[in-house]
Amino acid sequence: MTQDCAICQGSRWKSVVVDGVERLTRCDCWRTALVERLLKEARVPARYARCELGTFEHDMNTQREAFRRATRFVEAFPAVDKGLLLYGPHGVGKTHLAVGILKEVIRTKGARGHFFETRELLRLVRDTFNRGTEETEMDVLGPVLEADLLVLDDLGAEKSSEWVQETLGLVVNTRYNARRATIFTSNLVDSPDNTDPQGFIFQLGARTRSRLVEMCDWVKIEGADIREVGPHATPDSIAEWQKNSPASPQNVKKSSGLPPKTKGMARARLKDSGLQYELNWSGGKAGSK
Ligand SMILES: [Zn+2]
Repeated sequence: MTQDCAICQGSRWKSVVVDGVERLTRCDCWRTALVERLLKEARVPARYARCELGTFEHDMNTQREAFRRATRFVEAFPAVDKGLLLYGPHGVGKTHLAVGILKEVIRTKGARGHFFETRELLRLVRDTFNRGTEETEMDVLGPVLEADLLVLDDLGAEKSSEWVQETLGLVVNTRYNARRATIFTSNLVDSPDNTDPQGFIFQLGARTRSRLVEMCDWVKIEGADIREVGPHATPDSIAEWQKNSPASPQNVKKSSGLPPKTKGMARARLKDSGLQYELNWSGGKAGSK
């Protein structure tokens, strides 16, 4: 804490000699205090408190590539043209990576950053209508729209509705127009079939999906589910997992190309619509460099 600072005794200024002239400048503890405050204001939930770039497990190719992109993003920030959209199945480290980037950007660049779970954000906005509170929709959305870097976690987890699409469309559009970087994570699949309930188009609408393509590099992450193989997996345990787990990308691809959790629902839709699901559609790559 600042009171304990041996250099400035809590004044947060220190004297330096420049060209033989003594001047006052910010003490190092001022920056430390600022970063501490910014990290607190970023609202990263306690369960992700230990997520750092340095502890991201990147055993699989797509995880290694995602890690490279994350590092590049942090180095370039704020001179980045695009945000990141990290998508893929559960448990591959998408949120871990997003939180790691956010904290690193706050620490090294002093950026104002915010973390929001999509579902929680929508709940907070909705609460401003329901209760007789003073808080307005914009009180909740202001920091979301204005943060230097926003992490919007688990996009598509909320049941889609016109209101959900409109509200998320507002966030996406405003940040796009203001050229503010956003990192999204999502379990959605980039399905060309607009009736696929797990697809970006079905959940968010075609316009918002196009915006996301324009404003983000889409980074697909696959990998062993850390909740299944455990942390610090060995090549052997991953190989074992890849061979046997129904959630392994290998096995998912063999069956239908959809995450196992959604298979039943999506298949039912496909049967109804009579449409053919296309494996490995690469529409998301339109946003990549
Ligand atoms: Zn000090």
